[in-house]
Amino acid sequence: MADQRVVVTGGAGFLGSHLCRSLLARGDSVVAVDNLITGSLDNLTGISGHRDFTFVHSDVSNFLHVPGPVDAVLHFASPASPVDFDRIPIQILKVGSLGTHNTLGLAREKGARYFLASTSEVYGDPLVHPQPETYWGNVNPLGPRGVYDEAKRFAEAITMAYHRHHGLDVRIVRIFNTYGPYMRPDDGRVVSNFIVQALAGKPITIHGDGKQTRSFSYVDDEVRGLLALLDSDYVGPVNIGNPTEFTVLELAEKVLAITGSSSELRFDPRPVDDPTQRRPDLTLARSVLGWKPEISLDEGLARTSRWFAGGSVG
Ligand code: UDP
Repeated sequence: MADQRVVVTGGAGFLGSHLCRSLLARGDSVVAVDNLITGSLDNLTGISGHRDFTFVHSDVSNFLHVPGPVDAVLHFASPASPVDFDRIPIQILKVGSLGTHNTLGLAREKGARYFLASTSEVYGDPLVHPQPETYWGNVNPLGPRGVYDEAKRFAEAITMAYHRHHGLDVRIVRIFNTYGPYMRPDDGRVVSNFIVQALAGKPITIHGDGKQTRSFSYVDDEVRGLLALLDSDYVGPVNIGNPTEFTVLELAEKVLAITGSSSELRFDPRPVDDPTQRRPDLTLARSVLGWKPEISLDEGLARTSRWFAGGSVG
């Protein structure tokens, strides 16, 4: 699938901008829509002048109109860092609910395929490990993470309703912790925090005792998986992430080793409802997409820390 006209909401965000780059590289034309509350035009370096690229500064929680034909609508707009959950909770709920409704409406009007960026957060603090797509999750709707988790759960529900009720052609991906170049230095998530802290010789801020686990996916692997799902016939949801699980403490040690930093470890309080463990079951992704991740955490961290140190991508 190439030579398509694709709308990417959140196109100036971390994942959205990588997606725009990959779509342009394969010959698609891209309309990126972003309100820039967490995205940045800096993320569009190298593509903003591309002849097949258009940027629209707009909030998809409001009405969204894109002139001309559209083959696919990829809804990636949403703040996704836990530090944003307290800072901009209403915007997160709105983009997951109203923004999803508006972008579904756009896809329906255009007869386009719809692709929803959902999240491992729909599993909450999971009691089933690793998490298969069949697990319904363990989410606290009232806690600080509920604004993101429930917005994305609603987004999945309305996407499936459009699919069943209107016959809309949809895909749903559940994205697990992803990292790489173009994360904001102040994004607040663990990989960027640790790398930025290590490079500056500042203390590494471990939440709790650091024994909680995550499974970190390098952005190039992630985007390859997203495009494989977009091009497939499978509705989803499909987990896309990396199956190798690390404690936060192990991540800190790796970052220190890779950057050669002598930063000390600082143990801070653990955020409310911080999931204790997370690892994707990738059986479905392997069987329906023939996709698997290829970049190890060591390799991905080396690339990402080179980028944060002012080097190039890759
Ligand atoms: N974390 C940490 N130090 C930080 C930022 C995050 O120890 O400076 C922890 C966080 O509490 C969580 C894990 O790292 O247990 C992953 O956090 P992140 O914000 O990257 O994403 P999450 O998976 O929680 O959405």
